[in-house]
Amino acid sequence: MNEFILDLTTLRPTLNRVEVEAAARDLELPDAEWRGSVRGVFRIERTGDTVSIRGEVIASAHLECVRCLREFDLELVSPVTLLAERSSHSARGEQIELEREAHMLFHDGRRLDLRGSAREALLLEMPISPHCREDCRGLCPKCGEDRNEGPCACESASRGNAGDPAVR
Ligand SMILES: [Zn+2]
Ligand SMILES: [Zn+2]
Repeated sequence: MNEFILDLTTLRPTLNRVEVEAAARDLELPDAEWRGSVRGVFRIERTGDTVSIRGEVIASAHLECVRCLREFDLELVSPVTLLAERSSHSARGEQIELEREAHMLFHDGRRLDLRGSAREALLLEMPISPHCREDCRGLCPKCGEDRNEGPCACESASRGNAGDPAVR
């Protein structure tokens, strides 16, 4: 069973610290970017039928640097804050609206499914233009060489010219 589907019957009445783990594909995250497992560390507080969850979801994303095109792994830690109420069968449509708009979740008294929330939290944390490192120098626009490996031929050529008094 997927550990991101919490079994509420095993929770203590007040505060719980819960650690869960599942394969990225069990959270419907795409294989190409998410190759390892996803971990969740949650503080879960239960007051009657209200379940409040705070914690973080941790996973490693496999990305390509936008500057040098090198592939690298980036560890993402996404904060999660959720509130879940017990569902009433009469208001299913309204509940779907609330889940979408207010990040409210619903449980049936036995199970609480955190898969969708965990997936969303990770996707939100994904960088739009990933860099392998802050100061990546990227590829030379002329020769395409990786400038992280040292100056390319065009760079040393232009530097040579600038330093040559005959050119001025
Ligand atoms: Zn790079
Ligand atoms: Zn070059």
